[in-house]
Amino acid sequence: MARIAVGGFQHETNTFAPQQATWEEFVRADAWPPLLRGPEMIPGVEGFNIPIAGAVKTLAELGHEVVPLSWAAAAPASYVTEDAFERMWALFDEDLRKLGPFDAIYLDLHGAMVAEHTEDGEGELLKRIRAIVGGAMPIVASLDYHANLTPDMAALATALVGYRTYPHIDMAETGRRAAGLLDKLMREKRPVYRAYRQLDFLIPLVWQCTFIEPAKSIFDLVDELEAGEKSHNQGIVSVTHTPGFPPADIAQCGPALVVYGHDKEAVEAAADKLALAVKGQERAFDGELLDPDAAALRAIELAKTARKPIVLADVQDNPGAGGTSDTIGLLAALMRHKAKGAVIGMLVDEEAAKAAVATGEGNVMRRGIGAVVGYAGEKPVVADWRVVKVSDGKFTGTGPFYGGAKFQIGPMALVTDEASGVSAVLASKRVQAADQEMFRAVGVEPSTVPILGLKSTVHFRADFQPIAETILVVQSPGAHITDPMEMPYEKLRKGIRLKPMGPVFEGR
Ligand SMILES: [Zn+2]
Repeated sequence: MARIAVGGFQHETNTFAPQQATWEEFVRADAWPPLLRGPEMIPGVEGFNIPIAGAVKTLAELGHEVVPLSWAAAAPASYVTEDAFERMWALFDEDLRKLGPFDAIYLDLHGAMVAEHTEDGEGELLKRIRAIVGGAMPIVASLDYHANLTPDMAALATALVGYRTYPHIDMAETGRRAAGLLDKLMREKRPVYRAYRQLDFLIPLVWQCTFIEPAKSIFDLVDELEAGEKSHNQGIVSVTHTPGFPPADIAQCGPALVVYGHDKEAVEAAADKLALAVKGQERAFDGELLDPDAAALRAIELAKTARKPIVLADVQDNPGAGGTSDTIGLLAALMRHKAKGAVIGMLVDEEAAKAAVATGEGNVMRRGIGAVVGYAGEKPVVADWRVVKVSDGKFTGTGPFYGGAKFQIGPMALVTDEASGVSAVLASKRVQAADQEMFRAVGVEPSTVPILGLKSTVHFRADFQPIAETILVVQSPGAHITDPMEMPYEKLRKGIRLKPMGPVFEGR
């Protein structure tokens, strides 16, 4: 039995997004738990599909003493403020000194955190932790699929273990794998070799999905390298590939991989094989993008004969990647073309949601909705909105991604523009439209809707692909730019290509 400190600090930073991640965003609950410190952490994360929930369960099952530090996450946005980063660090700093000594540490990290004062949030955190606990202590961290896995992170952690699915349906499972690896490394005390590689092209999020090729085959290879090599006893203990989070203007942005094992040559060979496999698929990271008008027209046409919903993915307004979740490009196009019966969600507009509640079900309010932040100069969509149903925004997720998540997202409403027959789901807090319960909360059964607009890039696929006739990918103005060519990068490392088969970044 060992004494293992556990903690987490999660943020996915889109440095091009308009809103920063403040301390308040980390403290409050949304789809994930609020800031948790000390003994309240273990019950506080239980039942959520998040890495720390899986990790603490596995560590306890293996008979270890789990010592909770702190855990916090904020919705993806722009830079984490220096204030938020330092307040969180102050909690870690105090607890690591006060609650020790420890035999090992497990951390639940994202891997794409950029703070106002440091480009590599996780690298900085690991550096500060090492300064307290020393270089020899086993530290294993789990990482999101979208980590920009930096050389510092690889060098400072004993091991890093990433998700293998996008939509992320293996988050708690990844925590369990990380905890299992930590236990193994502590018990065996054998030397561990690491092979780290960075790939030299950015991969747009929308083509990183593991439900489709080429990511599907690449992650089959990740599984094979870990399991297959193990069975041949070649000493590979862990394989992680992170396709990266492109909307981050930092030097170490981009895909990377890291392999751990006891046999140096086997570790290097596995890393080379995986890197070559990703490079070999570069051309395959591609697909069709439609503008809002084309998407609305095609959806109306397809819906005439479809038996299931036509899903329109509003991929650039994904709040799960820093989008404001209030852009109106797709909504306005659906209204313009009178896409009767279409429903789009979640449109985050707290004032409009409150106004709908005040107006009352069955009544009409004439006002604008959406475009609260006003990204790309957009204006709210003014219409006679009939309030069909209101909700307090408290419900539990049931899909593969958000299953078990206890949502507390404030006033919600389903409002319908009777002139066009188009409806919007209004919400008060930014959460990604990746669970059918978000629609059921306002009385909409998603499988019965002819056209369903979702503000999500990929995660929606876990719960909505099974009920969709087809999925169209829409490129409407939004803060999560799909084509890295359109992002005003300044700080990428020279030589990286801006997208698969794209031009090389030369610096500015
Ligand atoms: Zn992710």
